[in-house]
Amino acid sequence: MIKILRQQGMFFFLLIQGYLICSCSEQNKDSNSLNNIDLTILNESASGLKAGFAALPITPEVPDKWIDKNSDAEYNPKDGDTFTDGNGNGIFDPVWIAGFGNRRAANGIHDDLWARTMIVDDGTTRMAIVSLDVIGFMNNAVTDVRNMISSEAGVTYMIITSTHTHEGPDLLGLWGRKSIKSGVNKEYLEYVKVQVAKSVEIAVKNLRLVHLEVSEEMTGAIPFVRDSRMPEVFDPGIRMIKAIDKLDGKTLGTLITWGNHPETLWGKNLLITSDFPYYLREGVEKGIFNGDSLVMPGIDGVAVYVNGAVGGLMTTSPGLAINDPFTGKEFKDPTFEKAQAQGEQLAILALNSMKNPVEKFDSAAISLVVRTLRIPLNNKSFKLAKILGVLDRGTSGLRYMWTELAVFKIGPLSFATLPGEVYPEIINGGIEAPEGNDFSIEPVEVPSVREMMPGKYKFVFGLANDEIGYIIPKSEWDAKAPYTYGRNKAPYGEENSMGPETAPILHRKLQKMLVELK
Ligand SMILES: [Zn+2]
Repeated sequence: MIKILRQQGMFFFLLIQGYLICSCSEQNKDSNSLNNIDLTILNESASGLKAGFAALPITPEVPDKWIDKNSDAEYNPKDGDTFTDGNGNGIFDPVWIAGFGNRRAANGIHDDLWARTMIVDDGTTRMAIVSLDVIGFMNNAVTDVRNMISSEAGVTYMIITSTHTHEGPDLLGLWGRKSIKSGVNKEYLEYVKVQVAKSVEIAVKNLRLVHLEVSEEMTGAIPFVRDSRMPEVFDPGIRMIKAIDKLDGKTLGTLITWGNHPETLWGKNLLITSDFPYYLREGVEKGIFNGDSLVMPGIDGVAVYVNGAVGGLMTTSPGLAINDPFTGKEFKDPTFEKAQAQGEQLAILALNSMKNPVEKFDSAAISLVVRTLRIPLNNKSFKLAKILGVLDRGTSGLRYMWTELAVFKIGPLSFATLPGEVYPEIINGGIEAPEGNDFSIEPVEVPSVREMMPGKYKFVFGLANDEIGYIIPKSEWDAKAPYTYGRNKAPYGEENSMGPETAPILHRKLQKMLVELK
């Protein structure tokens, strides 16, 4: 999440009003505990695995271009304007693109956005994993989707993750025409919910007996991501699960995880796109082409891209060069050619790695531990955004926000879900306690999440079942002088976190849940 609300003067005034309003609404702060999930399934008896996939578009309707009524020139809408599309139809509610500044009105579609679903079933537990090409999807919206899925679908537990594309519609609210107005188009949000529910129902109908193949490419993707904040720690491993139909040997689909912001197109692009995941998924499914000639065949099926630890902040910013995999041509400026080069480089790594899987199995038991928990909200901008309805999380109050954690195992694989943008050092180790950290403490979130996880192959999903912002190690929290690492001002990050207790609370809870899972 980048660049939130900055009109500070206005904020303080509204904030005071907000506190007055909210002291009464605090009474219902616990009302969404109705949605609490407290689920423990510990299963040791392995049985034949089934998997099913589906992909449904969630592309918004966007005019090809905005036309200025006075000059007939192409135009990026500004606050308070009314607009016509290229056909002269009046439109008053553009699709606001999320991720950089406010007021970025979508001006056409480059590629479809998707709800992509993988379901795994061991005969006892049916897990649905959905990935959405959106910036984030709040926990109350996740609950709505769960309530839309028929009981016949038999889904035990569903995870909805977001790829966090910074080139798609605002579903969180922070990027509307003004920072104090939600950028969420409610009709579009409802459409996304319907499509997610449908994709799960279709994936259930597509369930087949499968072999699962696991592959890992741990270092090849490091050149395609940079860490914009010390310490330099990544989540660079591409981890993959391929599901192969036992009857006909065809690929039903793949789950591919990596950790980076899909923001290679950066903040001036006005075309809706899923950014590099588009080219990655296309490459894995349909193959890699150099011009018109197929260089590397794809493996068919539905490719589902799930993002990992992207906080801290993992990015392919304009300064980071990406080379075309064939010509070697270097791309630095944010262009579709750059996103394509990046997606294809990743797809080539993934396809090569999947030729030599490290594990194959067709029988396993699924165990699962899910908990709802609340985290103190110590961020004035977030509070204000909630008061103004810019951040709309249903009945959640102002002192706390409810969110959700899950850990599960499928045979030799283990999974942990985080509800936001976690700093990779919490996941992989390497938390520092630099001089000048606001609490003068040593690292709290230890051991690392991957050290605590069971199993041989460890998958971490970020932005899963929620988007609560940055999850920052407490010993790296740095909002006050003196600043860490010799900085002369506060680093970027804390303004988009719920507060310094977020990471310790999530880490403690995960630790307990992982003990239960073992
Ligand atoms: Zn982000």
